[in-house]
Amino acid sequence: MNNTLYIVVPCYNEEEVLGETASRLKVKMHSLITEDKISRDSRILFVNDGSKDGTWAMIRDLCAADRLFAGVSLSRNRGHQNALLAGLMTARGRADMVISMDADLQDDINAVDQMIDEYSGGADVVYGVRNKRDKDTFFKRFTAEGYYRLLNTMGCQVVFNHADYRLLSAQALDALSEYGEQNMFIRGIIPMLGYQTSTVMYERGERFAGESKYPLKKMLRLAFDGIFSLSLKPVKLITWLGVTLLVLAAALLVYSVVRLCMGHTILDWKIVTISVWGVGGLILIALGIIGEYIGRAYLELKGRPRYHIGETVGLE
Ligand code: UDP
Ligand code: MG
Repeated sequence: MNNTLYIVVPCYNEEEVLGETASRLKVKMHSLITEDKISRDSRILFVNDGSKDGTWAMIRDLCAADRLFAGVSLSRNRGHQNALLAGLMTARGRADMVISMDADLQDDINAVDQMIDEYSGGADVVYGVRNKRDKDTFFKRFTAEGYYRLLNTMGCQVVFNHADYRLLSAQALDALSEYGEQNMFIRGIIPMLGYQTSTVMYERGERFAGESKYPLKKMLRLAFDGIFSLSLKPVKLITWLGVTLLVLAAALLVYSVVRLCMGHTILDWKIVTISVWGVGGLILIALGIIGEYIGRAYLELKGRPRYHIGETVGLE
């Protein structure tokens, strides 16, 4: 048998949705087991990312009542990507395939069947790709799609409209475990793995209950992590910006000298002030960008662990 499935679900303060998510996933798992698509050793693995509400107590109750459920609790809140990673690494060695999905039922559970079919057909990575964004606000759609395009122009090969709903085979999981970087942007790393890939389209629904655990600040941090951890293009852009400014300055110099020879004053003080401030601003931005990379290199050098596991249940 090589069809043990682990569904990994990171949870941060998700007590409002967890009951519903667990019961829907349970029904899905039972039907997959009955159809003989997955083995009886398959599990739904919840990762408690340092929740402050009753999430972990609920996970423990679920595990006590049914061996289909398992749980891992991190020592504190480490963010979605780290929680997901903790779950994936816990499933590694236990599962033949792992599907990661959000706790809030936004990822259509029915896409799981197709993902498993793709896996059976030989795929090691199956991306869940949302087919439309009509349920998103204009702001979210505009920024999200713009971000995917920006990443692609930066040379990062992210899959358009794919977040973290995906299937990974044991082989792909082993490969992923070799990436030890801090602040891992998982969806940017997966395409680097290679192997046979496939996509499954699904309709992304609205959060079943509760609020988004991704406020603007966390979302921006994830977005920056994506760019800075995958691309060195921003540094090259600085160089090109410098070259452009220098050419501009040279042209201005020639122009001023010619004007001076013709008996005109060079430039008035406003232009001088504006350009000093403008160039000053650009230099500071450039320093900030370089600082971003240096800061990240500093964190990598320290090689701190990305998470600590506090407790596990249902994993013998
Ligand atoms: N999440 C997490 N740790 C965090 C923030 C979020 O594990 O610090 C989980 C959350 O419980 C959910 C998933 O990440 O399962 C995605 O979060 P959410 O649905 O709130 O994000 P959105 O869909 O609004 O982007
Ligand atoms: Mg969500």
